[in-house]
Amino acid sequence: MSKKVVVVTGANKGVGLAIVKGLCKAGFNGDVLLTARNEKLGQEAISGLHSEGFKNVVFHQLDICDQGSSLKLKKFLEEKYGGLDVLINNAGIAFKQQAEVTMRTNFWGTLWVCHALLPILKPNARVVNVSSFVSKKCLDQCSPDLQAKFRNKDLSEEELCLLMGEFVQAAQAGDHAAQGWPNSAYGTTKIGVTVLSKIQARVLSEKRPGDGILLNACCPGWVRTDMAGPKATKSPEEGAVTPVYLAMLPEGIKEPHGQLVWDKVVQEW
Ligand code: NDP
Repeated sequence: MSKKVVVVTGANKGVGLAIVKGLCKAGFNGDVLLTARNEKLGQEAISGLHSEGFKNVVFHQLDICDQGSSLKLKKFLEEKYGGLDVLINNAGIAFKQQAEVTMRTNFWGTLWVCHALLPILKPNARVVNVSSFVSKKCLDQCSPDLQAKFRNKDLSEEELCLLMGEFVQAAQAGDHAAQGWPNSAYGTTKIGVTVLSKIQARVLSEKRPGDGILLNACCPGWVRTDMAGPKATKSPEEGAVTPVYLAMLPEGIKEPHGQLVWDKVVQEW
C-alpha cells in the first residue's frame, strides 16, 4: 500500500504552518506536504521544521491561483502516493477592499485546487476548507434573497460561481450594498468557501457514497498571524486545533460532513 499523504496549502507561515506542526504532533502516519507559492519561503519553513525534529514534512510548490501548479501537484501525488488522503485548503488573503483579487485567491483558488485534487481522494479521505466565522457574520448581513440562495441545499457549484462573480462586479461598480451584499469582500469570499464546502460534501456523498470521505469548512478562530495581527486572541497552535481535528477524524464516523466548524463545534448556517 502507498504511503499516506496530506497536503496543506499556504503553509509557509501562520495558521498553515501551525497545521503542519499540529498534524505531525497528532501522529499523522505519512508525509505532510507543506506547500507554498514561494519556493524559498517554503524551503525555509521546511528547514525550520526539520531542525525542530519534524522529519516527515516535505515541500511542494503550489500557487493556488495558478491552475497549472495544482495540476503539477496532482501528477506528483498520483505518481508518488497513488492519490491523496487529506487536503487542507488553508491559503488565503484579506485585502478588504479588493474584491477581485481577494475572490481570485480565497474562492477561485480554493476551487481550482479542489478541481485538481478531489478526483484523486482515496477512500476515507478528509478535506478541510479553512473559511472564517466572518462568513457567518456576512451571511447574516446579506439581503433575505441572497441569504435564501446561500442556504439553499440544492444550490449548484455553477450557481455559486455565478453569485461570486456577481458580487465582484457589483463591488467594482460600487453597487454591492444596494444589491444586498455585505460590505466586506473578504467576508463574501468566505461565504463562498463555506457554501462551496457544503456543495462539495453533497456531491461527494452522491458520487462516492461508500467511500467514507468527510469534507468540512472551518474557522481557526481569531489568530495572531500576519493576516490578523498581534491583538488576536489565539496563538497559531491554538488556531490549528480545529483544522487538525477535522483532518484526523477517525475512520468509520459519518459526521461532521458539509459543516462549518469552529472550536470543534458544528455551527448553524
Ligand atoms: P497569513 O497571511 O499568515 O498566511 C496566509 C498564507 O496563505 C501564506 O502562507 C500565504 O503565502 C498563503 N497564500 C496566499 N495566497 C496564496 C496563493 N495564491 N497560493 C498559495 N498560498 C497563498 O494568514 P493566516 O495564517 O492568518 O490565514 C490562514 C487561513 O485562515 C486563511 O484562509 C484565512 O482567511 C483564515 N482565517 C484566519 C483568521 C485569523 O484570525 N488569522 C481568522 C479566520 C480565518 P505568502 O507567504 O506567499 O503570502
